[in-house]
Amino acid sequence: MTAVERSAFEVMVVGSGTIANVAALVCARSFSTVWVSRPESPNSGVESVPAALLTALLEFGIHPVELGVHALHTTRRVAWQSPVASVRAARAAAHVDRGRLSAALAARAAREPRLVRLPARESKVDWWHGQWRAGDLRARLLLDATGRRALEKGALVEPPKRWLGTVFSGKRGRADPSLWLTALPEGYAYRLGSDERISVGLVSFDAAPRTFDELQERLLRAGVSWLLDQIESDLGERQVRLASVAWPATAARPGLLRLGDAALARDALASQGLSLGISDAFHAARVVRSGQRSPLDARQLEAKQRHLGTLSELVDSSCHAASEPLAAYGSWLDSMTTALHAAGSRASSVSNHGESHGE
Ligand SMILES: Cc1cc2nc3c(=O)[nH]c(=O)nc-3n(C[C@H](O)[C@H](O)[C@H](O)COP(=O)(O)OP(=O)(O)OC[C@H]3O[C@@H](n4cnc5c(N)ncnc54)[C@H](O)[C@@H]3O)c2cc1C
Repeated sequence: MTAVERSAFEVMVVGSGTIANVAALVCARSFSTVWVSRPESPNSGVESVPAALLTALLEFGIHPVELGVHALHTTRRVAWQSPVASVRAARAAAHVDRGRLSAALAARAAREPRLVRLPARESKVDWWHGQWRAGDLRARLLLDATGRRALEKGALVEPPKRWLGTVFSGKRGRADPSLWLTALPEGYAYRLGSDERISVGLVSFDAAPRTFDELQERLLRAGVSWLLDQIESDLGERQVRLASVAWPATAARPGLLRLGDAALARDALASQGLSLGISDAFHAARVVRSGQRSPLDARQLEAKQRHLGTLSELVDSSCHAASEPLAAYGSWLDSMTTALHAAGSRASSVSNHGESHGE
């Protein structure tokens, strides 16, 4: 094999998060695959996923216990219409420790003999002579799993004001691990725990709280300090991330498929980002195998419509008088849903060449 042949791959996956890792693993089963990623500190929070996602992870030999999951949650404690919380039935969900999920997937990638990993500080990728290129490596197909940054995205479609999610995490102790959620004057707050860890998040238009004490004060002022009941110590690990819906304004060109948040950054409120992103990754491998050109775009459009529709219903039906930001967000979601319906009718009348993003 020549040096040029050694540097040529069927698929290049770019991104350093969960979805890139899953896409790299799934693609390496069927294609010569290079995964371009950069070293980053992993997300330390706990996130809620539909129970069915655990089955998909079993495909890689990842057992729920490895992710800090010993039980499924079928109820939530919610204070949405008023500051008084009530327990409601919910679809079975697992609370996954994101740090452990990243470690488990990275260990599987390290053991996958057909996967070439290119860890690069500056992982620049460009389109050159009909191929994607990262350093000396080339591939005809690029799977973009770079999260909200998305390669070749043009502008982003997103609300005029963005939600900011500030998440504090630490040891759970004896605190109840189920999902608790409350509306706030400036947005909403939630908590949830895995086997050992707990996360408390504040999602708002306002400035992010700098310390756990500041978060406590804000919850106290809103009359919802019960959200921190049973949490015995300060949660010292803090992460701030964008938390509202967003997606690239430009269609993906042939040879480029976007996955996970790079295709559609889901709203944190929906607890859907991980499961839909992972299903994008499995779907992308099927698409590549069947030689279709870029049907993921049509599917993403449909997913956006469904997702925005569900969110607007949720926001419309659940806003109480104090949560004006949620109501404003609801109107934005409604207008995007209408725009996407229009884009959907246009998409059905164009051929399937990845030109279906009308938004
Ligand atoms: C506050 C909050 C709470 C949430 N809660 C939940 C929840 O409970 N359940 C759920 O399912 N989802 C939840 N989500 C959403 C979920 O976290 C995301 O959907 C998911 O992490 C998306 O993964 P990703 O791999 O697509 O993107 P990311 O996690 O953003 O990963 C992309 C990575 O690629 C890196 N990158 C960018 N450019 C390049 C490049 N050129 N080369 C290499 N790497 C690059 C980025 O730095 C980043 O690390 C939540 C989100 C927020 C903000």
